[in-house]
Amino acid sequence: MITIKNYVRPENIDDAYNCLISKKKGVLIGGGAFIRMGRKNITTAIDLSKANIDIIKETEDNIEIGGMTTFGKLERSPILEKYFSNMLAISVKDIVGVQLRNIVTVGGTVHSRYGFSDLITALLVLDTKVKLYKQGIASLEEFLIKGSEQVDILESIIIKKDKREAVFKSMRNSKGDYAILNVAVSKLEDRFRISVGARPSRATLAYNAMDYLNKNGYSYENILEASKMASNKIAFGTNSRGSKEYRRQICNVLLKRALLEVVGNEN
Ligand SMILES: Cc1cc2nc3c(=O)[nH]c(=O)nc-3n(C[C@H](O)[C@H](O)[C@H](O)COP(=O)(O)OP(=O)(O)OC[C@H]3O[C@@H](n4cnc5c(N)ncnc54)[C@H](O)[C@@H]3O)c2cc1C
Repeated sequence: MITIKNYVRPENIDDAYNCLISKKKGVLIGGGAFIRMGRKNITTAIDLSKANIDIIKETEDNIEIGGMTTFGKLERSPILEKYFSNMLAISVKDIVGVQLRNIVTVGGTVHSRYGFSDLITALLVLDTKVKLYKQGIASLEEFLIKGSEQVDILESIIIKKDKREAVFKSMRNSKGDYAILNVAVSKLEDRFRISVGARPSRATLAYNAMDYLNKNGYSYENILEASKMASNKIAFGTNSRGSKEYRRQICNVLLKRALLEVVGNEN
């Protein structure tokens, strides 16, 4: 259970940020779904629901998704449906149920860099940047490694619009559970990006396999080889959902399927 002493709901992100830095123990509340699963005494809860960062906006070059955008909105967005083979909607559609997906937010997920995140794995194969209110813009890849260097608010994520095809796959024991492993792949012309998440640690790119396909082409044999290379190189861990050896094998299979799907009938 959480207890909250003071509750504020700022009308814009600037007020939210000023409140966050002025209160010693201020805690941001996105959807609040994850926070409320723990135990916490919160001195000041800063609810972002009125801060006007609940948007999905298309500009000439990018798609911008506000930090307070829920997974439900990602799933139903006519803008996102047009890009990346609708992978972003697909990556979240199996997370628990509609009610939860209508609560949980992109900002709460990405800023927290959860290892189990399905969305982060998918975003990593796109040209994705995170926009932190104070620290500015950084690539998602860099943010996942370094995190936020100071107290900040994830204002939005910015995805470059391109003609990338993308595929997301995950393996879970049951619908309500976290994934045992998830993978995403994308192909822009002849360039591939491959990410693996829920290892169970944070998602990472499979650099060796990406290089291999980018240099040698994507024949059926090369796809098998790249899937094997990624599975052998990436570090996996053991938890109650599966052992690292099991994850390694699942990774090989999911990557092979995802890569074959992303190249479609070209092989
Ligand atoms: C029962 C349950 C099952 C789940 N299963 C899955 C699953 O299978 N796969 C999956 O990918 N995810 C799963 N999730 C996680 C979910 O997808 C979200 O990642 C998670 O709930 C965080 O989003 P939130 O909006 O609830 O964040 P909150 O609970 O509001 O906040 C989480 C943390 O992020 C901080 N925060 C919130 N918003 C911001 C912001 N804009 N900027 C900076 N910091 C911020 C908060 O201060 C807090 O520390 C599950 C969650 C629950 C509750």
